[in-house]
Amino acid sequence: MTTTIVGYPRLGEHRELKFATQKYFKHTITADELQAKVKDLRAQHWATIKAAGIDQIPSNDFSFFDQTLDAATLLNIVPQRYKDLGLAPLDEYFALARGYQGEAGDVKALAMKKWFNTNYHYLVPEFDQDTDIRLVGDKIFDEFVEAKAAGITTRPVIVGPYTLLRLGRFLDGKTAADFTPALITAYTEIANRLSELGADWFQIDEPALVYDQSAADLGLFTELYAGILAGKGDLKILLQTYFGDVRDSLDTLVQLNFDGIGLDFIEGRTNLEVLDTVQFPKDKVLYAGIINGKNIWKAHYAKALSTLTGIRQRTDAPIVISTSCSLQHVPYTLRNETKLPAAEKQYLAFAEEKLTELHELDQIDQTNLDNPLYTANVALFSTPRYEENKALNAKIAALTPADYTRLPARKERLAIQDKKFGLPILPTTTIGSFPQSPAVRKNRAKLRKGEITRAEYDAFNEAETRRWIKFQEEIGLDVLVHGEFERNDMVEYFGEHLDGFRFTQNGWVQSYGTRGVKPPIIWGDVSRRDAITVAASVYAQSQTDHIMKGMLTGPVTILNWSFPREDITRELSTKQIALALQDEVLDLEKHGIKIIQIDEAALREKLPLRKSDWFSKYLDWAVPAFRLVASKVQPETQIHTHMCYSEFGDIIKAIDDLDADVISFEASRGELTLLDDLQASHFETHVGPGVYDIHSPRVPSVDEIKDVIHKILAKVPANHVWINPDCGLKTREEPETKASLINLTEATRQVRQEL
Ligand code: GLN
Ligand code: ZN
Repeated sequence: MTTTIVGYPRLGEHRELKFATQKYFKHTITADELQAKVKDLRAQHWATIKAAGIDQIPSNDFSFFDQTLDAATLLNIVPQRYKDLGLAPLDEYFALARGYQGEAGDVKALAMKKWFNTNYHYLVPEFDQDTDIRLVGDKIFDEFVEAKAAGITTRPVIVGPYTLLRLGRFLDGKTAADFTPALITAYTEIANRLSELGADWFQIDEPALVYDQSAADLGLFTELYAGILAGKGDLKILLQTYFGDVRDSLDTLVQLNFDGIGLDFIEGRTNLEVLDTVQFPKDKVLYAGIINGKNIWKAHYAKALSTLTGIRQRTDAPIVISTSCSLQHVPYTLRNETKLPAAEKQYLAFAEEKLTELHELDQIDQTNLDNPLYTANVALFSTPRYEENKALNAKIAALTPADYTRLPARKERLAIQDKKFGLPILPTTTIGSFPQSPAVRKNRAKLRKGEITRAEYDAFNEAETRRWIKFQEEIGLDVLVHGEFERNDMVEYFGEHLDGFRFTQNGWVQSYGTRGVKPPIIWGDVSRRDAITVAASVYAQSQTDHIMKGMLTGPVTILNWSFPREDITRELSTKQIALALQDEVLDLEKHGIKIIQIDEAALREKLPLRKSDWFSKYLDWAVPAFRLVASKVQPETQIHTHMCYSEFGDIIKAIDDLDADVISFEASRGELTLLDDLQASHFETHVGPGVYDIHSPRVPSVDEIKDVIHKILAKVPANHVWINPDCGLKTREEPETKASLINLTEATRQVRQEL
């Protein structure tokens, strides 16, 4: 058997990519220095993969920011407003990714959305009347040549045309059909050039195939690939899918002239059954994703091998074993984790260790089950990893519908709260965090290194909270926040105060661009050890007469932004977390906190990709888990939630069903189509659609914000509307944050005058 991976993390073992790019943004290194740095990084990664014994190594899985943006820029899918800036290619690329405000002009970034069901974000390609698709870039070729010079013939990877079209945004009345011929030409040209450069294989990623496919979708797919495959020459094409099964497209895939088809047998477990529905020809290579590219548990070799057996029973095709998706969704290596005990580390595998697993599975497959690599793995999985919390699980089993129901009904509660709070129309607030400045991070680092006491650490954060309270009061925000300075991360912070979590020191996973997150690991049963946020909230409330919002991360988000267990259901894990948070909410209420925000930033992220699974496999337990957290508070206590996305679409009712009193969400970077959804669904929850984009350093003008508020008021009754940025401000710098919030409150004042 042969081994390969779908893609490798690109941030680097020590997040070198992040730090180098940030230096470039701050002009402390030049473009050439940045290029040299990432060249080293790529060389290191290829060498590591090769040394681990992986046979086929991908290239062009590196990206400065995002692989979808890379494909778009390679193909000249760059809106005119960015070209008009007249920047050098690398700067134009970053302008697309991050927006640009400077001498050359003022342009917002492209819309950014979550990549399928992950916490990784891609930049949404924009197709409009000026889009002239042509092969204009060199990156994919340069990286192939670069690897070749280092002695490795890689398999270049690119996001495929079908996925680009399905994820794209169409303007000026354009549709996918308008771009099909040019895409066929461009992808054929890429294939031909790779072939000339000496490539044997070319991997085209089409994860969009794991969504539901209509006949028209498959028609588009077929048209694209019939064209590309006709002109590909000798180059072998691997059509790679991931994040699910290909139940409606495998038949189409095997009939097309692909040389290899990559299937995910982890999240797309049902792909085995899908294989029963077609004759998978033996002249195509089946790339079998049997190592989980998304989770950090050591592979269960017996299960992986049984999947392999299942595949062999269904086809005689040659098999290459691979990861279920790119390893960009897991941290780089366990090697630098010095705090986790060895007894626990043995259950884990990050990207580098997963390379070894592939190699070991291949070796076991070639020998027999007496192989010590196999027996050691069997032994590991036959010892329990943690001790079950039986009392907790019994409590969960005994929950009744009343535990999930808050009384009185929302309309009644909102009236009570309205009277009690006396807030102005269009109340203003922020989402929770203020900039995690170098000083804030330094303070935390000092505590970690033992250079300061806990009291000194808290005193610093409290001073920071006072400083920002003063600012919030000065500019006239209505509902204040304490700023979340004590939180390194909105999930890790909670995990640290809950039993059942484990943490890494270097387990960074790319979330977008240079930004990494460090998801905790849900290790065992979860329960609350002691109060988590009460001290910080109570302190902040004591410093102001305004209402201070308490701030929690919700149970579904804690689960979704952690590495989940695989030995119990996500539903049970989430309910354990929900009960722990219920204790925290009641504690905050008892201590005088009147508004409590329970962030569910990631609720939608894990919405199953197939519509038929939305409720039965997810929302039917995720929504109740949220309700469980808030069900026992008094009518006077206002529950807010926040979500990091702008498309509710068909799940709008489920969102209303969370039974929060107020919800804020991301809106400004996407289109405000959700306002129509809110209107059409008679959405009861009061809403704060973000009025400016916090993912970019750009400062929105007063008029721009007024414009957004007007758009909101055209669709939503004014007494249901809150005004806020579209997410927390922790990643922003102080000057831009202040300037933006000043404009936000000023815009709100001006609009209030009009009402
Ligand atoms: N309360 C969090 C913050 O402001 C929410 C972050 C998020 O939605 N990702 O940082
Ligand atoms: Zn958010």
